[in-house]
Amino acid sequence: MPELPEVETTKRGLEPLIVDRKITSVHIYKKKLRWEIPKHLLGTLKNKTIQKISRRAKYLLIDFTDGQLVMHLGMTGSISVVPSIEPLKKHHHFEIKLDNSTSMRFHDPRRFGSILWQNNNNKLSLLKNLGPEPLSYDFDNYSLYNSSFGKTKNIKAFIMDSNIVVGVGNIYASESLFLAGISPKRKAGKTSRNRYYSLTQSIKKILSDAINNGGTTLNDFSNVDGEPGYFSQVLSVYGRNDKPCIRCDGTIKKIVQNQRATYYCPKCQH
Ligand SMILES: [Zn+2]
Repeated sequence: MPELPEVETTKRGLEPLIVDRKITSVHIYKKKLRWEIPKHLLGTLKNKTIQKISRRAKYLLIDFTDGQLVMHLGMTGSISVVPSIEPLKKHHHFEIKLDNSTSMRFHDPRRFGSILWQNNNNKLSLLKNLGPEPLSYDFDNYSLYNSSFGKTKNIKAFIMDSNIVVGVGNIYASESLFLAGISPKRKAGKTSRNRYYSLTQSIKKILSDAINNGGTTLNDFSNVDGEPGYFSQVLSVYGRNDKPCIRCDGTIKKIVQNQRATYYCPKCQH
């Protein structure tokens, strides 16, 4: 599943290929994704110039003068820019043709992704109430601690809550807690300021490393087969149950928390 680093890499890959390009036509091949793709996009986007692309949480935002195209990759989505003459594949559901004979195509076999529109004066509710971006200054060393008072949920569920901080997915939550030496079973409201300081730095490091590693897949965006593979990065605990801890002589354990797999070292995470 594409996580924040993949979405950020997608944004960086698309940027030089689509910004300042004019849209010549829009094509919806399968309107029912997670939600229906608004049909008005065929007219709304035609002859418009792409001003900018940005990311908020796991949403890609493509700016036009009067609004934004909002795209989410869901479980299996990917976006590529290819010559428009390339044949479509079965799971290409949406295409924007650009004025240089290339096309931005949305590919999504499981169709949990979404393509939506918001006007400048009428923003989508799903983009409201999102917590700070983990790599921004808004997510500082006090953000987590200040949000933690009275929270009885476990710290892993706490950092995965997009109202608290966005983009910390299941893998990155386990990895960040390991790096900070914090047990995923610890209660969010019973964690010290110093430990939250360390966890904040860990989250930033884990996500930045993933984005930097992902830079090597950037070339894929202009490939004909252009489906960026999701990152296979070096993981310290995730998926390593029953294997030796890389930091101590403990053994990595797998538990289930909030219906999600958690991996941790009971010996060096407290
Ligand atoms: Zn250990």
